[in-house]
Amino acid sequence: MSFTIHGIGVSGGIAIGHAQLVSHAQLEVAHYEISKARIPEEKARFDAAIVTARAELASLAQHIPVGAPAEFEAFLNLHLMILDDPTLSEAPKQLIETRQCNAEWALKLQMEALIEQFERIEDGYLRDRKSDVIQAVERVLKALMGRPGQLLDRSIPEENSILVAHDLSPADVILFKGHQFASFITDVGGATSHTAIVARSLNIPSVVALHQARTLIRENEMLIVDGNNGVVIINPDRTVLAEYKLRREQLDLERTKLKRLKKTRTTTLDGTSIELHANIELPDDVADARENGADGVGLFRTEFLYLNRGDLPDEEEQFEAYRRVVEEMEGRPVTIRTFDLGADKQIDAAERVAPNPALGLRAIRLCLAEPQMFHRQLRAILRASHYGKVRILIPMLSSAHEINQTLHLIDEARHSLDEDGIAYDSKVPVGGMIEIPAAALSLSTFTRKLDFLSIGTNDLIQYTLAIDRSDDAVAHLYDPLHPAVLNLVAHIIRGANRVNVPVAVCGEMAGDVRLTRVLLGFGLRQFSMHPAHLLSVKQQVLKSDLGQVMVLAQKMLKSDDPEKLEQLLARMNR
Ligand code: PEP
Ligand code: MG
Repeated sequence: MSFTIHGIGVSGGIAIGHAQLVSHAQLEVAHYEISKARIPEEKARFDAAIVTARAELASLAQHIPVGAPAEFEAFLNLHLMILDDPTLSEAPKQLIETRQCNAEWALKLQMEALIEQFERIEDGYLRDRKSDVIQAVERVLKALMGRPGQLLDRSIPEENSILVAHDLSPADVILFKGHQFASFITDVGGATSHTAIVARSLNIPSVVALHQARTLIRENEMLIVDGNNGVVIINPDRTVLAEYKLRREQLDLERTKLKRLKKTRTTTLDGTSIELHANIELPDDVADARENGADGVGLFRTEFLYLNRGDLPDEEEQFEAYRRVVEEMEGRPVTIRTFDLGADKQIDAAERVAPNPALGLRAIRLCLAEPQMFHRQLRAILRASHYGKVRILIPMLSSAHEINQTLHLIDEARHSLDEDGIAYDSKVPVGGMIEIPAAALSLSTFTRKLDFLSIGTNDLIQYTLAIDRSDDAVAHLYDPLHPAVLNLVAHIIRGANRVNVPVAVCGEMAGDVRLTRVLLGFGLRQFSMHPAHLLSVKQQVLKSDLGQVMVLAQKMLKSDDPEKLEQLLARMNR
């Protein structure tokens, strides 16, 4: 039967392929609270999953294929023993009770506690048994999620695979960079969640906030993902399939046409130059930035160097990564943002327990709380400045005190390099992200103390409208056209332009062609976005008349009527 589900399209294009249900204990485990009344039911669900996993192992033991290695039986028995052990079959029930959480999460927590114990064992053989614990847990998790025994179907080529997941963290998605999946879709997530942002950088169509995709879609089903409209069609009929194949070809054609703009100078109709920079997550992304004709890197989200690993990158490793980007950009400016860890980008995924992570120890707050780690990064960035044009960008600044502390630590890093006799550019500009309303409202402090500004509209909108950008339940409230947002953004641009402090927008608003003219009208001359959006934004700039858009942008700032705002936007984009 064919049916359609709707979510939020976060990365455009059309993908046609087969569903691959993502199921991996490390990769994805939903976490939600349950009511006290539901505790017995949740425990029973956990018990039933253990029974299912045991039955599977017993059945496998009875049907050992001829010629299977002798260890196979021992391995099945070991997994059965692990499942029989009360640390796995009983302790999670305790956690369900004390934490009032779902069974999957309780099991994951217990697994992590066990793994930690295993890691402390000196005997190498016993220490390696932690992978058996993980595999046994995965079997129970699959039973809990209603798909006993299934693994990713490797018989489907990656380029025809559409990954279907309940939730994926930014750290999970960054792992897809080395792969060729056709698309991925998730039940949760918002349009500016970091998961969505990384999805865009993969250049594959993706849709989030589908709510029921994981429960409704079965392994291997044929899917169409329309990333522009946030639509997923399950088991499409032949006519629909033919229609989408045609649309996909048209999109490919449009993309090819856009490529011709790569070397065209970005100017408005009246000849004003506009700079278009790229946002990158990893050094490998520079290829995409170059491919799309970026004027520089406007935002290097360095925190991604810290994810998916058991240790922290040392100064040398970071220096090599930054130097590579700087050299490959061949003299174009590279804006390196110091790590914005915390919130939904945790070094250790198990630490996602802060009561309100987006308001917690995140970004510069974490840097100031961990000065050693910050010092290593600052030295690495400064050292890279010897090889090209580097700018340092500080995320989430909110007060003069934080700016002063940060500048002091940058000075310390400079002195330590001087002492070591290591070369760096002594004039590296230091800028701040304006992404907290408090910063926007005390802008002169920032323009006085910093060399440039970059507006992080994703967080600015999150904090202005009080909507968690990673929570799909409030995703519909995310509104770049909210009068408060428009006025704040315009205020920042105006304030910076007035005192000649360079200002850019590097949040997702910068890559949204619908909003290009609004930002131009506010006086923005520097945009930074995912490379995939660069050429369509350039096309829009080339067709824009600054005089006209400025008049309409001023009108937008005076309106608080959503309908009128939409009308003005439509007029502007005509
Ligand atoms: C932003 O907040 O707009 C931004 C660019 O930073 P990030 O999305 O990484 O928080
Ligand atoms: Mg931000």
